Amino acid sequence: MTRRRVIAGNWKMYKTLADTRAFFSAFLPLVADTKICDIVIAPPFTAIATAVEAAKGSNVAISGQNLSWSKEGAFTGEVSAPMLLEAGCRYVIIGHSERRQLFRETDDNVAKKTLMALEIGLIPIVCLGETGEDRDNGLAEQVLARQFAGGPGALTPAEFSRILLAYEPVWAIGTGRVATPEIAAEAHKFLRQCAAERFGVEYALALRILYGGSVKPDNIAGLMAQHELDGALVGGASLDAKSFAAIVNFGQ
Ligand code: PEP
Repeated sequence: MTRRRVIAGNWKMYKTLADTRAFFSAFLPLVADTKICDIVIAPPFTAIATAVEAAKGSNVAISGQNLSWSKEGAFTGEVSAPMLLEAGCRYVIIGHSERRQLFRETDDNVAKKTLMALEIGLIPIVCLGETGEDRDNGLAEQVLARQFAGGPGALTPAEFSRILLAYEPVWAIGTGRVATPEIAAEAHKFLRQCAAERFGVEYALALRILYGGSVKPDNIAGLMAQHELDGALVGGASLDAKSFAAIVNFGQ
């Protein structure tokens, strides 16, 4: 089965509105002819409207970096799925390791947020991945299985068919220490197996799993040579228009 590649950029808590406009002016011409993958950029909440405006009519879709599991209410500091949709987002990142580690998000939060995103019509990019300590202790698969079962595994098959997964080993995020293509492929294969056991082989084969963790222009080709990897979630290297375009356009 051919799965369409997705290259997504996560800007985290970087870029002002002026930076956002400058990025899109430089980036859009570099990817205007790109047809082989879906391109997604997740700016901070404050820059979403500016990014949506700048990307209008282009082949770049905009994503939130997080959302509330509630549609509305007295939740100071939260942003809801309907708000993201209204602002022009098509995707939303859920359960990024920084949210899990620094803001104590649990598998249960991830499951609730995923359901909310799906209900409102956003495409969830659900992140999971083991820490370096988990891997060193031989617990990587156990952790992935737990995160899968508690998050995406709790969905119905129809819901599951509408999400993207991102395998992001915590030890590779923002560290410059990229997973080898083989390690990444092994983890993706394991996650696909979890999906097959829970939902059946057809659902597992259709699932797109992105790899995230220190993806750069000089390692994207090696990673994408693994057919288990259906794209990338890129942090640091997505902040620079030329470097993100080189990742999007690798091999072209
Ligand atoms: C990320 O934030 O999802 C990420 C993978 O970051 P980096 O590419 O900087 O490791």
